[in-house]
Amino acid sequence: MRILLFFTFITLSITAWAHQDHKNTGKAATATYLGNEAVLVQNGESKIMFDPFFHNNFNIYQLVPDEILTAMFDNQAPYDNIDAIFISHAHGDHFAADQVLKYLKAFPKTQLIAPKQAIDQIKTLDNHASVLPQTTAINMAYGDPSQNIRIDELNIDVVRIPHSGWPTRRLDVSNLLFRVTLGDDVTVMHMGDADPNDEHFKPHDALWKAKSTDTAFPPYWFFYSTYGPDILNQRINANESVGIHVPTNVPEPLKQTGQPYFSKPGETKAIKAQKAKKAP
Ligand SMILES: [Zn+2]
Ligand SMILES: [Zn+2]
Repeated sequence: MRILLFFTFITLSITAWAHQDHKNTGKAATATYLGNEAVLVQNGESKIMFDPFFHNNFNIYQLVPDEILTAMFDNQAPYDNIDAIFISHAHGDHFAADQVLKYLKAFPKTQLIAPKQAIDQIKTLDNHASVLPQTTAINMAYGDPSQNIRIDELNIDVVRIPHSGWPTRRLDVSNLLFRVTLGDDVTVMHMGDADPNDEHFKPHDALWKAKSTDTAFPPYWFFYSTYGPDILNQRINANESVGIHVPTNVPEPLKQTGQPYFSKPGETKAIKAQKAKKAP
């Protein structure tokens, strides 16, 4: 009993210390991989998830494991107290309307930012009306100027970038790129299934130049397509790119690029914030 109490004391002390550290100096921001293009990004008290709920992996991609889904719905750390969910596009390997609806009902403080195409799917489901105030529907055409949205501690820029397959296939799919700054000092970018052609990125040059991105999450095909590397390294003003949408059987050419990518759910990477943390 005494030993048990001792360990409890130690645990409590460490918890208290960690909390103190977090409060005073700012805990490092992290990205946690969930599956396919699903990523949890955390900076202090701010937490967001990209493309977390989907049912289809086409027998190629990584599903979000049941243990992680259960933890999300049980509001267990690190998947707890999510401020906002972002949906890149309404494809079955990125979005499941039923699960998103279920989550928003369970967590009325969580916001959803998604293409109108995804929100329209939610609107076909029974009992969806109560979650609509939690949603922001993005309805943009290709070539539209970027939109800026602010939700509490989140500063969000949105651009519609065509889905891969442009200019012949999937032109009807509204694929959104999100650049999100959490808590004023950490910026990430999620690109959905963006087509890697600079024609889509060049017209938004002022947007990229206005703010650097600490970590971008491009679909892995950017790393070895004709223009993808230049877009990542020169156009979008990102300090680091971590590939996502990686098949469970990791392609050999991807390994050969030597670029970082996510492929194991639960894997976490630190986000190196370039902008100095605010003084305590
Ligand atoms: Zn897609
Ligand atoms: Zn996809």
